Amino acid sequence: MSVMVEGIQSVGQVTSWLAAERPLFLVIHILGVACFAYIVAKRLVPLIRAERDLRFDQPLARLGRVFKFWLGQWKHPRYKAAGTLHILIFAGFILLAMRAFTVLIVGVSPNFVMPGFSGRVGHIYDLITDYAATVVFLCMVVAVIRRLVFKPARYAVPARYGKAHTADAIFLLALIAILMLADSLFEAAKAAGQAQQGQPVEWLAALSLPWMLQVALLSAPLPTLGNLYFGAYLLHEVTFYFLLCYRPFGIQFHVETSLFNIYFAKLDREALKPVKWGISDEHLDQVKSFGVKTFEDFTWKHMLDFYSCADCGRCSDNCPANAVGRPLSPRFITIKARDYAFQHYPMFGKANNSKPLIGGIYSEDEIWSCTTCGACEEECPLLVEYIDKIVDLRRGMIDDGNVPQSLQKPLKALESRGNPYGKMEKKKADWANAPEFQQVCKVKTLGKANGANTLYFVDSITAYDDRMQSIGRATAKILDHVGEDFGILGAAEKDSGHEVRRFGEELLFMALRDHNVDAIKASGVRRIVTSDPHAYNTLTRDYKDIPPVEHISQVIASEVKSGKIKFNPVENGNSVYTYHDPCYLGRHNQVYDDPRDVLDAIPGLKRVEMGRSRDRSFCCGGGGLMLFYEPKEEQRMGVKRVQMAAEAGANVIVTACPFCMVNIEDAIKVAGLEGKMTAIDLAELVDKQIAREGQEAA
Ligand code: SF4
Ligand code: SF4
Repeated sequence: MSVMVEGIQSVGQVTSWLAAERPLFLVIHILGVACFAYIVAKRLVPLIRAERDLRFDQPLARLGRVFKFWLGQWKHPRYKAAGTLHILIFAGFILLAMRAFTVLIVGVSPNFVMPGFSGRVGHIYDLITDYAATVVFLCMVVAVIRRLVFKPARYAVPARYGKAHTADAIFLLALIAILMLADSLFEAAKAAGQAQQGQPVEWLAALSLPWMLQVALLSAPLPTLGNLYFGAYLLHEVTFYFLLCYRPFGIQFHVETSLFNIYFAKLDREALKPVKWGISDEHLDQVKSFGVKTFEDFTWKHMLDFYSCADCGRCSDNCPANAVGRPLSPRFITIKARDYAFQHYPMFGKANNSKPLIGGIYSEDEIWSCTTCGACEEECPLLVEYIDKIVDLRRGMIDDGNVPQSLQKPLKALESRGNPYGKMEKKKADWANAPEFQQVCKVKTLGKANGANTLYFVDSITAYDDRMQSIGRATAKILDHVGEDFGILGAAEKDSGHEVRRFGEELLFMALRDHNVDAIKASGVRRIVTSDPHAYNTLTRDYKDIPPVEHISQVIASEVKSGKIKFNPVENGNSVYTYHDPCYLGRHNQVYDDPRDVLDAIPGLKRVEMGRSRDRSFCCGGGGLMLFYEPKEEQRMGVKRVQMAAEAGANVIVTACPFCMVNIEDAIKVAGLEGKMTAIDLAELVDKQIAREGQEAA
């Protein structure tokens, strides 16, 4: 077989099998492109009517994300089998894109060759795409088998969310397989025809799909080859345009939208979306309606999210609310909104919109069930955002006075007393002022005459909850041990407002924040330390113009390194420790290593990792106002988490958040593990193990 170094452009020279039907191909092209343009234009209508979203800044950073998350498929390997399949299919599509375009043009211009792809380059490209088409075809076969035989649980659609999506998924996979087959047959028939006519034959990649088809066709009669060549071309062209126009009606729309969705993805994922983009806090009182109430209240980027979801189920697979049977599955937050968009913005006729979403496609419980843990966003390969949407929906409910009964009292107390328990402000420093504690560690309450370098921002739960005050005292003793000049705000400190904001009470949050900012500024401190990851998150993300903030685990890790903190060995050699990553320290702020480094620095401490740890940590049940909310659920999140710790072989759960401590200690009791499992805060453990003067240091 002689090697021909030209590419597809030789078709016209070899055979005129396509030439006679050029007008037909041209008509299909025009119709296909026109239909696609019309469909996309219709899909853009709700985005044009949507709320603003400022996503046009930092083009280089955004491009970097496109390279990482779109081209680099960064998140896909988190699911090994599905991820590998997707990477292979994606790479195949990228390689085949130009080939598909070239093949389409060849129908109307037989000698067309992509500039720069004649000669040897074109030949090498043809060989690569022979393999790419083969790999994509095989991946389709494997994907269909997975869907039909292995049926990964995360693809299932619970009855309350409608019908299974399997048929649609199989149909789309089959269409792509047909596309690959048609392309390969087109090439194979051409090569077999060239051979029979004694013309130079293109060299097809050995063992590829086109190569195998060519081998099978070598002895076929010439007219049959002509029909196959023409038929394969027609099938390719029709399938290509059908797919192009069908994709915007379902999950495959992400093929078109994913690049844009990733480019416009939030750069600072941890920062909560403002109530309205472009409206400053001072002008919020002029805003007529807060939050999302109708579909059109979503921002255009959030609508693009809805179009871009690939229905892979990874978000819901990692959502703790979904895992414990709460009425929330993030995947269906998206799918329901997309179905709504398709239904209310039809291809023909007028848009039928502005229906309330709560009570329509979403239930109140569904939206209140989210702990804002961020597991869904961490997992999504297409960077679909959930927390902002859920908070926006909550803002809408709050604006309508639609507040769950159990939250009304704590919200009122926050308004009147600055804490959700309704306790007196003057009692806020009681944990530190107890005479027996003052003998061990003097904690200053900052004021005009009483300054310090560092503020320990305590926050409500640690200041008022009897059990959590132990975390406050341990934190103070650690700061004292390392010689830090620190103090607290006492009665001048109000709740940080972290959960208030995430529960949609923006104006109340602003009042709490402004009060605290004034108090912090008046204290003259240069640094803030907190033992509460929720306070840490809101002080760093939602507050402005305050000194730098650190979580106590970061301070301890740095003082262990500096040598100021040394540890005594653990006494009970039978204890096996595991570290539970609080969502707002780990996933939201990437503080994963410091707490682990501290634990590993304690001599004799045996530590194991839970199956779900670090960025896949499983939420304990949520903090702040979530403690007051009574969700419908089959099991407590904390119980599931405690069981995970037991499965890992641990009998001590260390965490670094007072809310995690409430949930985990409670879950130990509910799970019947009292006496077998204990929980301790990192600060408490460090305080217990610190080698103080006169004690033996490791
Ligand atoms: S933030 Fe957490 S609880 Fe909320 S939807 Fe996402 S995974 Fe579920
Ligand atoms: S939102 Fe993301 S993770 Fe969830 S189903 Fe869609 S693509 Fe998958």
